[in-house]
Amino acid sequence: MLPFFRAAVRLARAPVTRATTRSRLASSLARSRPFDFSKHAKRVYNKSYQRPQPLESAVPLVGRILRLGLLQWASRPTFYFEAGAISATMGAFYLYHLERVPLSNRLRFNIMYPPFEQLIGEMAYDHFKEELEGQILPDDDPRVIQVRRVLETLVKHADLPIECDWEVVVVDSDVANAFVVPGGKIFVNTGILSVCGDDDGIAAVLGHEMAHNVARHVSESMSRDAVLMVTASFLQLFWNVPGRVSERVFRAAMSLPGSRAQESEADRIGLVIMAQSCYDPKAAVRFWRRMQEIEAKDGAVPEIISTHPSSKRREAELEALLPEAHQSAQSSKCHVVGKHVDDFNILALTQYSMARQVSDARDSL
Ligand SMILES: [Zn+2]
Repeated sequence: MLPFFRAAVRLARAPVTRATTRSRLASSLARSRPFDFSKHAKRVYNKSYQRPQPLESAVPLVGRILRLGLLQWASRPTFYFEAGAISATMGAFYLYHLERVPLSNRLRFNIMYPPFEQLIGEMAYDHFKEELEGQILPDDDPRVIQVRRVLETLVKHADLPIECDWEVVVVDSDVANAFVVPGGKIFVNTGILSVCGDDDGIAAVLGHEMAHNVARHVSESMSRDAVLMVTASFLQLFWNVPGRVSERVFRAAMSLPGSRAQESEADRIGLVIMAQSCYDPKAAVRFWRRMQEIEAKDGAVPEIISTHPSSKRREAELEALLPEAHQSAQSSKCHVVGKHVDDFNILALTQYSMARQVSDARDSL
């Protein structure tokens, strides 16, 4: 009888208890205000508090879990064997993706395949065409005709190791700049044409941009950035190094000298391209001398924080490469047959066919 009584009392009191609890909770919630973190932080630290983003706040937790997992893995008897196998796989992956840069023969790491690079190039081309709409000069503009003529000569005579759909877009802008996107689309500002001066100067700029494409520098940079991102993520997760800090440190350590090396390499390959097409390689040296004069007027960016070597250094490096460029010119087809041989052949053929027609007409009379 007693157990039954106790159970009946419990049953009778249960709804009352739940309701009471609910009402107590509701009234306490109504009385209380949500905790204001920003006011608390201002009071305690005398500075504004920013609520952490869900993803940022999850990083330390994920890091802690990963560190625990790593410790557990390290305690396994097969740890050294497994770690060695992973390191060997990573080393094999790195070695497999090492390749030589065409023309300069430099060894570099590249994990990007040409179709992906092509896709990036097409997207970049569409993006810049849209962004620069209204500034792109028409086909019949004399500056466009001049720049396209130089590009055609370079493509025709230079011994290029890759096939590309070369095209040049001339942009009406005073900024002395030119750039290339993967796939061979070159953008040239009118501001740089005045620094170029003549066809030889234009060939120096176009040769440099073509060289970036020949050496697949965009793929190399993307491969380096992928390694950088993975390393920065590991540092952030395992050692709590803030992502932005680790990325900046790595970028400073790897990216800037890398970009400078790419620029110097593009200067070297570009010099060979223009020399093989019978343009005067000394024009590249003169171009960088003129750039120095402009920078002296406007104020140049110090080399240490720039991704490009200084104009003075580029001029000196190009001057030292002139003997190599002259050698490339001597052994080129252009040197033997001449830069305008094709134009000459077309003219000769036209004259021959006209003479033939006149002769045939005379015979039929
Ligand atoms: Zn460049």
